Amino acid sequence: RIAELPTSTAGHTHCPYCALQCAMTVNPGAGRAPAQVSPAWFPTNRGGLCRKGWTAAELLDHPDRITTPLVRVGGELEPCDWDTALERVADGIRRAQATGGPDGVAVFGGGGLTNEKAYQLGKFTRLALGSRLIDYNGRWCMSSAAAAANLSFGLDRGLPFPVTDLSHARAVLLIGANPADTMPPFLQHLDGAAAAGGLVVADPRLTATARRALDGGGVHLRLRPGTDASLLMGLLHLVVVGGHLDPSYIDARTSGFDEAWGHAAAWLPERTERVTGVSVAQLERTVAMLAEGRRGHGDPACSDPACSDRNRDARGGSYVLTARGAEQHADGSSVVGAAIALALALGLPGRPGSGYGTLTGQGNGQGGREHGQKADQLPGYRSITDPAARAHVADVWGVDPAELPGPGLSAFELLDSLGAPEGPSAMLVHASNPVVSAPDADRVVARLRALDTLVVADFVLSETAALADVVLPVTQWAEEEGTLTNLEGRVLRRRRTVTPPAGARDELWIWNELARRLDRGPERFPVDPRAVFDELARASAGGPADYSAIDWDRLDAGEALHWPCGIDSPGGTPRLFLDRFATPDGRARFALDGVRPPAEPPDAEFPLLGTTGRLLAHYQSGAQTRRVTELAAAEPRMWVQAHPVVARAAGLDDGDPAQVVSRRGSVRAVVRCDEDMRTDTVFLPFHFGGDGRANRLTLPELDPRSRMPEFKVCAVRLEAA
Ligand code: SF4
Repeated sequence: RIAELPTSTAGHTHCPYCALQCAMTVNPGAGRAPAQVSPAWFPTNRGGLCRKGWTAAELLDHPDRITTPLVRVGGELEPCDWDTALERVADGIRRAQATGGPDGVAVFGGGGLTNEKAYQLGKFTRLALGSRLIDYNGRWCMSSAAAAANLSFGLDRGLPFPVTDLSHARAVLLIGANPADTMPPFLQHLDGAAAAGGLVVADPRLTATARRALDGGGVHLRLRPGTDASLLMGLLHLVVVGGHLDPSYIDARTSGFDEAWGHAAAWLPERTERVTGVSVAQLERTVAMLAEGRRGHGDPACSDPACSDRNRDARGGSYVLTARGAEQHADGSSVVGAAIALALALGLPGRPGSGYGTLTGQGNGQGGREHGQKADQLPGYRSITDPAARAHVADVWGVDPAELPGPGLSAFELLDSLGAPEGPSAMLVHASNPVVSAPDADRVVARLRALDTLVVADFVLSETAALADVVLPVTQWAEEEGTLTNLEGRVLRRRRTVTPPAGARDELWIWNELARRLDRGPERFPVDPRAVFDELARASAGGPADYSAIDWDRLDAGEALHWPCGIDSPGGTPRLFLDRFATPDGRARFALDGVRPPAEPPDAEFPLLGTTGRLLAHYQSGAQTRRVTELAAAEPRMWVQAHPVVARAAGLDDGDPAQVVSRRGSVRAVVRCDEDMRTDTVFLPFHFGGDGRANRLTLPELDPRSRMPEFKVCAVRLEAA
C-alpha cells in the first residue's frame, strides 16, 4: 500500500538514481536490521518505484562499501587514516601545480552530486585550485539537448512543463527514449496518449516502450541507427506539405522558418524512407497523430486532483520528447534542433498542454549542469565568458572577476589531455566512473594511468577508483542533506535518514579540508549544505536558472518550486515560455543544420552498426546496481542482442559467448538472439565492467556545438569469442 506523504515528512527523500526522482521513505532499521525503502507519493511517480528504487537501500550497508581511505603503496591500495590520505592528495596537487601551473590539476564531477556539491566543486576548482579544467559526466548525458534548447528557446530546462501535463496528452512522439526500462513510473504519464493510440516511439529496437505503443494501437518507427536527423527532417517535410503547419503561431512566436524549410524541403517521404528504413505510411501516420493530438491543447478545466492549478489549462495536446538515443551522437545538437523544429512547426512549445522536452537521465542531471561544474558555465547556468555573469559570481565569491579562470575543456577532451606533456598530472574524480562510461574507454584508461596523482571519491571501489592513487570514502544519498533538481526543473530536498559509516566523509568536508591544507581560504568553502545552498541561490540570482527565492524552509514545507524562482517569479515557474521564449527577441528559433551521416559507417571489415543503451535492472556504469543482489541476479553479465541471422552468420547461437569488435577495442558478451532486431544492428548495454565494457567500442567523435561523443553508433563486427 502506497503511503501518500507530504514532501515535508521526516525520513522522506528521493531515489538515488534517475532524474524522475521518485519519492520514498527510508526506514533506517533497528539494531543490525538493514534499512528499508517504502514508496511515497510525489507527482512524478504517484507512488510508483522501479526495481532499482525498491532495492536502493541495500548499498547503504553493503559489504563492498569503502569505509576507510585508501592510498596506493607499492602498487596496492592500502587502508590509511584521513589525515594521511588528504596530505597525499594535497601533495599531489602541489606537485602538479609546481610543474603545470593552476591547470596542472583537473577535476571531473558527476550528475549525481547534489546541487550544493555541484556548486561547491566548481567554486573549489576555480578558486581553491585556480584551475579552469573542470567538466563532468553530464557532458555525455544530454549536453546536445541542452545546446539545442539554448539555441532555439534561449534556455535549457529538460521538461519546460510539469511531468503531470503529459498525462493529458493525446499524442506523444518519443525519439530515442525507453522509459519502460529507464524510468518505469514515468510511463503512467503516457497512459492517456497510449490508450488513445497516440504513442509513437522512434527507436532502432523494439523496446518495452515501443511494445507499449504498439499494444495501444500506436506506432514504432524502427529507424536505422544514426538517421534520427533524417527522420525528423522527413516528418517536418510532411507537416508542411500535409497542411499541418500552425501559421499564426509561426508568425507570432518563431523566427527562421524559411531557412529551416530550405533544409527540410529536400526530405521527400520516399528519400526519408530510403535513408531511415521507416515507411512513408508510418511517417504520414505519425504526423497526422501529432497534428490531430494538438487539437485539445489549451483546453481548460482539467479536473485531475493531482494537477496544480496551472495544470488546469493543460488538457489535450501533443508532445515531442527526446532522450539519449537521439542525443548521444556527433550531430546530437542538430538532431535535437530538428526535433524542436518539428515541434515548432506544429505550434507546440510554449502552449499549455503541448510542447517539446528532453527526458533528463541522471538523478541530478538538471541541477548538475546549472551550478558551475561544467567547463563553460558559472552558477545560475551562466556563461563563463559573459563579463556580467563573471562580475556577478565574482562578487558573491568575494574576488575580482579577473581571478576567475576562463572556459576549460569538455569531458572527453579533458580526459584525453591527462598526462600529456602540457596536460594535467593530477585529477580529482567525484561521482563518476569514466573507465566504464567514457567513449573509447581503453584510451581513457591509458590517460588515467599516465597521471602522477589520481584521486577518486566514491562509496564503492568502482573501476575508476581501482586505478586511483588515493580513494576517499564518501557518504551516499540517504546519509546526506541537500537538494536536487529533477527532470522538470523542480527543486527537491534530499534528506539524511540514515547515519553514515564512521569512516565516510561528506565531499563538502573534503573540499574544506583540502582548501585548509593548501592554504587557499577554507572559510570560503563551508561544510553546511544549507549555507552552501543559500550562497548558490545568491550566485544564481538573475541568471537563467534563478534559485534566489528558494530556501530550504519553503522546500521542507512541500512547496513545488520550479526554477526560475527569483524576484520576478517568487512562486516558481512550472511552465516556461507561455508568453515569450528566452531568446533576445522572445521568439523561438528554427535552428536546423544539414544532415550529417554517422562518423563511422559500416564497411567490409566492420559490417554492423553497434548501438548502446540501458537496462531496467541497472543504472549508468553499474558500479552501484551491479552490487545489488536482486539487480545483479536479473542482469548478471554483459550480453549482445542480435538478429538470429546476424548471429548465425558469425557462427553463433543464442547463449554463445561472443566478441564484438570495433576499431578501438573488443567486448566479451553472451549472444541474445532476437527476431525483432534489425539485421544491420547489434545492441550492447553499457552497464558492465571489465572486458564487458561497451564503451571500449564507442567513438570519441564530438558534436561541434555541445562536445557530445558519438555513443550511439559505431561500426563493429560480431565473432565467436
Ligand atoms: Fe524512480 Fe528512477 Fe529511482 Fe526507478 S531509478 S525508482 S524510476 S527515480
